[in-house]
Amino acid sequence: MKFSAERAARKWPCGRTGAAMATAAVVLLSVGVPSGPAAARRVEPFPWGSLFGVNKPRPRKSVRSTVLLPVSVPLPKPRPAEAPARPVAEKPPLAPNAPTSPPGDKPAEQATAPAPPPPSACRLALTEAIAIAPSIPDIHGAGGCGGEDLVRLEAVVLPDKRQVALKPAATLRCAMASEIADWVRTDIAPLTTSLGSAISVLDNFDSFECRGRNRVVGAPLSEHGRANALDVRAFKLANGQSISLTDRNVPREVRENVLHSVCERFTTVLGPGSDGYHEDHIHLDLMQRHNNYKICQWYVWDAMPQIAPLLPVERPEEAPPREVAAKSDAAKPERPPSDGGKPDAAKSDSAAPEPPATKPAKKKRRQTGAF
Ligand SMILES: [Zn+2]
Repeated sequence: MKFSAERAARKWPCGRTGAAMATAAVVLLSVGVPSGPAAARRVEPFPWGSLFGVNKPRPRKSVRSTVLLPVSVPLPKPRPAEAPARPVAEKPPLAPNAPTSPPGDKPAEQATAPAPPPPSACRLALTEAIAIAPSIPDIHGAGGCGGEDLVRLEAVVLPDKRQVALKPAATLRCAMASEIADWVRTDIAPLTTSLGSAISVLDNFDSFECRGRNRVVGAPLSEHGRANALDVRAFKLANGQSISLTDRNVPREVRENVLHSVCERFTTVLGPGSDGYHEDHIHLDLMQRHNNYKICQWYVWDAMPQIAPLLPVERPEEAPPREVAAKSDAAKPERPPSDGGKPDAAKSDSAAPEPPATKPAKKKRRQTGAF
């Protein structure tokens, strides 16, 4: 049974006004139809059935009105940004009643939810029982500087509630701040306690800074520029003692202990002997590399001797010359007739105009200095 305004005009002999009345009647009827709860439930999804002729055929105008109504009514579902758990809990009871609930309230609710991003798992885990680390706004600087999910790490809270202050406070990504906090709580606090006093301060030499690696202009962005690195210089203890990590006079065992703990946790550790830029502090970061490759370069130097030796240990007679090993091999048959290795020594020194007696000693000295 088809029903339209044109047909109505044809059937009803009262002309244009009659047709208009018929149309109005049809519209009223059709608007009235879905107001019942049962009908509303049928309309809840988009009324594709009406479009494809599955449902009862209706005048075109009423079809348009039923299309418009559901579009404005069931949309206001998406407010999951506010609370992740809530939609799960409320969805089942809401689903059957949603279409019958007052449609006017929901669009307003939707408009007032501009969806702040939910806190990260790291942020949720880094509670005040672990660290004083308030969140700070994301940083989007030039050249990729900055990051998201940033915190200002002001202090690490030890299991016994005492606080280890970072001086100054460090700007870090949450993941890095969390690793630092765990490191201090788990590794460093027990270590300093074993030394006779509790750790009270972590000496922050540098954290977030938008710059190239090693402050070299044009170098790749440092992890400091991504708020993913911390330079540590020393620990301060409650008894006033300061333990500098790069001080040769700090017991070697203590420095080695720290070395092992940081290389276990962080993906980059640079200290004395690494590249010349880290002689007075230890660089720590969580840079992600292919195959989880890690860099751990920190040479724990021995303490300097109380009295510097006047001369280096003499080079052993049997040690082969370094740069001219091939030449010395060729010269070996000549050695027995002449006196020892002196001709070889003269050859190796030919590049430098120094007396053969002092030259090997100088080379030896430089070599020992490198390790
Ligand atoms: Zn650094």
